[in-house]
Amino acid sequence: MWHRVRYDATGCWVWTGATANFGYGLVSIGGRQERAHRVAWAMFNGPIPEGLKVIHTCDNPPCCRPDHLRVGTQWENMEDMTRKGRRRHGTSDQRGSRNGYAKLTEEQVAHIKGMAAAGHYQDDIAARFGVTRANVSYATRKTWTHVEPIPYPPAVRDRPVGRGAPAKRAARAS
Ligand SMILES: [Zn+2]
Repeated sequence: MWHRVRYDATGCWVWTGATANFGYGLVSIGGRQERAHRVAWAMFNGPIPEGLKVIHTCDNPPCCRPDHLRVGTQWENMEDMTRKGRRRHGTSDQRGSRNGYAKLTEEQVAHIKGMAAAGHYQDDIAARFGVTRANVSYATRKTWTHVEPIPYPPAVRDRPVGRGAPAKRAARAS
């Protein structure tokens, strides 16, 4: 495990072996592929509590340095990512976030697609990620078909679906 990390000048222990989506390191354990940062956290802290994510406090997906990792919920992970405006690391992929047009990262798109599929309002999704509704719409288009949505629980819709605020729509109708 540790012979596969490169000690980076930034302090990160960067995984140099195989990587998965979003640049996370992959390590083979007993014939199973595990995410390297999850294995690293578990080696120092014990089993990962069920349902929790291992989150990078350094915002560097291939990093496996145990004190750059903490556990949290999927929501915390997403908010962490949003706040830091995560950039995708270490890929030669020309689709999605590397094509020069996109402002979104593939990980954000995976969350946006998941939220959209769960029925969240585009405005709410845009606000959560600090992007425009056009970005949200863009994330669900064909440039990003290779990004699998992250499953979200169904949204509670408390106002009409569609463009504009309800008050504006009512005014237009009268
Ligand atoms: Zn790190």
